[in-house]
Amino acid sequence: MPFPPLHGSPTNLYDLTYPELELFIKELGQPSYRAKQVWNWLYERWAADFEAMSNLPKPLRQQLAAKATLGVQEPVFRQFSSDGQTTKVLFQMGDGQTIETVLMRYEKRNTVCMSSQAGCAMGCVFCATGQMGFFRHLTIGEIVGQFIYFARELAAVNERITNVVMMGMGEPLHNYNNTLAAVDRIIDETGINLGARKITISTVGLVPAIRRYADEQRQTPLAVSLHAATDFERNKLIPVNRKWPIEEIMEACRYYIEKTGRRLTFEWALIRGENDTVEQADKLGQLIQGMLCHVNMIPLNPTNGYDGRPSVPERVAAFKARLAEYGVSSTVRVRRGIDIQAGCGQLRDRVEREERSK
Ligand code: SAH
Ligand code: SF4
Repeated sequence: MPFPPLHGSPTNLYDLTYPELELFIKELGQPSYRAKQVWNWLYERWAADFEAMSNLPKPLRQQLAAKATLGVQEPVFRQFSSDGQTTKVLFQMGDGQTIETVLMRYEKRNTVCMSSQAGCAMGCVFCATGQMGFFRHLTIGEIVGQFIYFARELAAVNERITNVVMMGMGEPLHNYNNTLAAVDRIIDETGINLGARKITISTVGLVPAIRRYADEQRQTPLAVSLHAATDFERNKLIPVNRKWPIEEIMEACRYYIEKTGRRLTFEWALIRGENDTVEQADKLGQLIQGMLCHVNMIPLNPTNGYDGRPSVPERVAAFKARLAEYGVSSTVRVRRGIDIQAGCGQLRDRVEREERSK
């Protein structure tokens, strides 16, 4: 339970479920319909402060301002891609930790890429977040707060967030409870009401968590970051593969498909000369042919701590064509916001480097 507040620190209202908010409001001596009004300000009207909650009596607004917050994170850095379509924000939380959130605007979609942890414990060698190590899990409110920040910004121009991808910093299924509680909040019909199908959870392949996700019959799409089709290759890129090797991941994936009937996505960051060979395409084709799945390829985003390079376009095309021979469908994603280092963890990494060099 996020309250009663520890040491009198204010409660982030975005940490609370509706029943918890009702209780909070009740403890302030207020009738329960006030909770409904506050909920509405939180999730439909994106109030930036308590003063804006004009249908609440002034004393309640003052009580709330004294005992609660509307998310605590502050944007400390903002970057825009040169085409202006991608915005990346570095947020600082109460304890000084920083995380990244990215808004990608398309013609008919506004996608937010959100973080689930400060840092990441999985240590994937090509990933800027993996290179910095793990600091802590984010709270429900800190995850939801990233959505709220951009929802407020888009509301000002009469737009909405249409899609969410949990592909920012951190391993969402390592912080299972808070991440999925935040997702449940975003799809809650009494609040934001974003369709479950619009939120993609990406995982490095935590086998027990994938099984739990399947058992819970979750409707939010799942993407598994495979990146290599043999344990020899994958061990080099993804240390946690030693704990849950490919065969176990595949079993968990088949279990997920069987339980949910949903198509799964495999993520594949194409690294020049590393995992973009015809041999790897063959192995991948053999591994997943006949499965209800799709492969999402993205040329590697170079990072400071890893000397791998993105695959050249001919290799990408050859890889895709080879997969097609196994009946495996795939998409090559264009890298968005490359000029603002939109890869997860890259902004925090840059800001920390600059601070160290001062
Ligand atoms: N921890 C989760 C989600 C966050 S990472 C996961 O690993 O799936 C989101 C996606 O970005 C993953 O597919 C990850 O492998 C990929 N990624 C990380 N660093 C990258 C880089 N430098 N270039 C391309 N993709 C990268
Ligand atoms: Fe963590 Fe995902 Fe980065 Fe791997 S790729 S270190 S799991 S955030």
